[in-house]
Amino acid sequence: AGAEAATRLRDALVDAPRAVSGYGAGAFVAHRGEPLPVDDPATGKVIAILHESDAAEVDAAVRAARHAFDHGPWPKSSITTRQQVLMAIHDAIMAHADELAALESINTGVPLAQTRGMHIPRAAYNFKFFAEYINHSAGELYQQEEGFLTLVSREPMGVCALIGPWNVPLGLTSMKLAAALAFGNTCVVKPSEMTPLTVARLFDLMRDCGLPEGVVNLVNGRGHVTGAALSGHPEIDMVSFTGGTETGRAIMGALAKGIKGAAMELGGKSANIVFDDADFDRALDGALLGVFANNGQMCLAGSRIFVQRPIAERFMEAFVARMRNLRIGDPLIPGTELGPMINAAQKQRMRDYVGIGESEGARLLAGGKAVPGMEAGHYVQPVAMLAQDNGARLCQEEIFGPFATFQIFETEEEVVRLANESRFGLAGYVWTEGLGRAHRVAQAMRTGTIWVNTPMVRDLRSAFGGYKESGVGREGGRGCEAMYTEIKTVMIPV
Ligand code: NAD
Repeated sequence: AGAEAATRLRDALVDAPRAVSGYGAGAFVAHRGEPLPVDDPATGKVIAILHESDAAEVDAAVRAARHAFDHGPWPKSSITTRQQVLMAIHDAIMAHADELAALESINTGVPLAQTRGMHIPRAAYNFKFFAEYINHSAGELYQQEEGFLTLVSREPMGVCALIGPWNVPLGLTSMKLAAALAFGNTCVVKPSEMTPLTVARLFDLMRDCGLPEGVVNLVNGRGHVTGAALSGHPEIDMVSFTGGTETGRAIMGALAKGIKGAAMELGGKSANIVFDDADFDRALDGALLGVFANNGQMCLAGSRIFVQRPIAERFMEAFVARMRNLRIGDPLIPGTELGPMINAAQKQRMRDYVGIGESEGARLLAGGKAVPGMEAGHYVQPVAMLAQDNGARLCQEEIFGPFATFQIFETEEEVVRLANESRFGLAGYVWTEGLGRAHRVAQAMRTGTIWVNTPMVRDLRSAFGGYKESGVGREGGRGCEAMYTEIKTVMIPV
């Protein structure tokens, strides 16, 4: 029955491939660019034809955003006006949450329970959060003895290029868009060429939300074509990027030419440290969620699991037993816990890393094979391996799939050293009942976020972002305020 319902839902939403094109200067542009097929990773079927925005279309979108910033009402609009628009977008997303969640699941392969339960409501909440946040965004005033007033205020940054990844398309892009709009900017959005459907649908919905012409624009296409044309465009003022570290490096190189701002949310290989005094069951639940949520395709995945020697065998056994029981299947079937990988390359990458790990002396604990009867989609069994050498590729490279790498440690000092031996510094997880130890380890880890005895809770007022090669800048309330505003200081003698 679940499979039939899934087929009906799929057919209702994408009975024939939909055409997706850019949106500039207040209207969808004609379908004219290079047509790129977009696949459903669960079936391998083409669900959309993406019309790639070439350099001329990117130029038109940036110019529309530039014009709207330099001459339009949005950057100078009142807080009340911006709040009304942001709340209208929030309401539009919630009114279409079922449709958006199903589209997101069809396009990414992420189970519906996660897109409907988490990512789409979060996308809506991003707009509500920033609508409320700007009530409390204030300037500063200093008064010196010599009789000067110094006023410090924040102004919108200008034209923001917002480039997103494929793993959480609407959730991550909406955070950028909501914040950029809240602080009075105009935007050009570029979603991943693999997962353009929900962002395109959002642009459709935003037409009725009261945004002046040219404030939001959309370009679509591959990174080396559309993305490069956007991030290298002289008329943008900044790029806010979420994606891989190597792409981030290329974009920062392009931005350096014009000394433009860069906000970079990049890759990770986060440590999940389980001490022998941890609450065993909670740590186990947390470790599983940390590495298998979103099909394991998460920047903040706790994919390096360090377990202290006395509980190591028991913990790994329990983990593998639970992993074998994960329900792999169609993301649209209720109860599915693990959907397909985004594409054939990502599926192959899982298998490649099993081979790389074995050649480095790691032991395969379970998984990594094809899923019988599901060859049409990019399904693969989740993997657990036990590594020996922290310097091995298995322990140092982001695999970006449902792939857990275990390491066994003896002491707190040792595990902190091992966890920090990484070029990444996005997040970390610590499981211990020792209060002092929890704080010591959290302070010693060189990462932007640490979860203690809980996985992945997030308060949007707090900062999220990476140390080291995991990024530059922070998302969340104040982080976004810094990212999407310029600061102006005015001195006046009194
Ligand atoms: P990616 O870097 O391949 O692509 C991201 C986006 O950049 C896409 O829209 C792509 O088209 C575009 N792009 C590619 N080359 C470009 C170029 N030269 N100029 C401009 N744009 C270009 O990343 P991905 O595979 O889509 O996403 C997975 C990666 O994203 C992982 O490394 C993951 O850790 C990271 N990620 C980070 C966060 C975070 O918050 N830190 C969140 C999610 C994903």
